[in-house]
Amino acid sequence: MKKETGDLILKKDNGYKGLKADKNKKIFDFAVGYKKFLDVARTDRETIEQLIKMAEKQGYVDIKKVKRSSKGVINDKFYIVNRNKSMAIVNIGKRPLTDGAHVLLSHVDSPRIDIKAMPLYEEGGLGFFKTHYYGGIKKFQWISCPMSLHGVVILKGGKKVNITLGDSIDEPAFMLPDLAIHVSGKLQGERKYNEVIKGEELNLLVGSIPAEADEKAKDKVKLNILQILNKKYGIVEKDLISAELSAVPAMRTQDIGFDASMIAGYGHDDRACVYTTALAAFEAKKPEYTTIAYFLDREEINSAGNTSATSLFVSDVYENILAFEDENGLYHRLRKAQSNSKAISADTTEAYNPTWKAVFDTHNVPHINCGVTICKFTGAGGKRESSEASSEFMAALIELFDKSCIKWQAGELGKVDEGGGNTVARYLASYNMDVIDIGPACMSLHSPTELISKFDLYSSYEAYLAFLNFKGEFNL
Ligand SMILES: [Zn+2]
Repeated sequence: MKKETGDLILKKDNGYKGLKADKNKKIFDFAVGYKKFLDVARTDRETIEQLIKMAEKQGYVDIKKVKRSSKGVINDKFYIVNRNKSMAIVNIGKRPLTDGAHVLLSHVDSPRIDIKAMPLYEEGGLGFFKTHYYGGIKKFQWISCPMSLHGVVILKGGKKVNITLGDSIDEPAFMLPDLAIHVSGKLQGERKYNEVIKGEELNLLVGSIPAEADEKAKDKVKLNILQILNKKYGIVEKDLISAELSAVPAMRTQDIGFDASMIAGYGHDDRACVYTTALAAFEAKKPEYTTIAYFLDREEINSAGNTSATSLFVSDVYENILAFEDENGLYHRLRKAQSNSKAISADTTEAYNPTWKAVFDTHNVPHINCGVTICKFTGAGGKRESSEASSEFMAALIELFDKSCIKWQAGELGKVDEGGGNTVARYLASYNMDVIDIGPACMSLHSPTELISKFDLYSSYEAYLAFLNFKGEFNL
């Protein structure tokens, strides 16, 4: 059959073009909720805290409270939390789990500046915290701007103190000071680009007033800071050793552009996917297949650790659901359930930036406003360490998105042998699941302020929801 020219050529255009007013309103309204979420979910722990609140509002219960009857589980919507830093939101489907689940996995961690175990010192009459940056960052981007402090400190006796300080304009924030251009020409000017600021130069300024103490007392500024910490939180210096404290950019999430079409904020990677997958999971009412939305930690440092995508927590969630059905033959049923599962690694990728077009393959780069990005494979240099979705799985998803009128685009991260990066897709693939990377494209990834399009954010939500609600067989 002869095809029309329009069908032969793949079109890619701006999603706002010709958009109906009611859809436009939906997109902008959706962004309002997201911006609020991003302003309060500043760390892995805070993101999990928010997700629990959101899930409970939707009628989900902690797995420990799930009620059972002789016919099975009474609560078919529940969540499982792992060490306050990762979790899964489960919605039991009509089919048994051994038919496979529809899995979404996003990560709750974002690049940040972590505080070292013995952080506090005084030098030059100023008090500082030593830090160790977390994740892949251009260190020079993170200095000379207000930073807020977040985390937990466990006091002697086990009392946990939550710290959130510096996000509000009424609260003091912190700063990683730089050198003026007037004096840094020789020292910094001759360094390579990512050594302009070195790791050990990321010292967080935390105070400058000396304590009223004996004339001979040393480090009076440090002493004064410890006095404040003790008065406000009950902390002594020893407590800082086991503390988990991070400095993150103290900025509000804000619309960008005269048309307010985009959003600047800290942590779009990957909290844009956290938010959109969570909302999709809540919206998928009674799905055909059980849906599991994972929210895992430590992706930015290659998924090492017991709250990451390499943790057996991924399997523990399956085992818990399977045990609700039947305690027998767990291992065999686990393998069947996982290998029949279909998964989306929900993560962001870098969008085309015309100022630096040289780093992109312009034929294969995602563009802002052109819809959710589907990435067949990640990795770099000869597709090394990449997971790759099969043609069958990817084609089935594209057909699903087309039928659901969801705007999508294909995209890769930078040029061959120049760009690249990895996601959790390969860890999910190791369970013999079908998995693909799908998420919104951002600009300025891993900088203190990342940029996302409201249209792409909403398309991502639509794509995740269509996937969770898909009733048919993928026939792979
Ligand atoms: Zn990411």
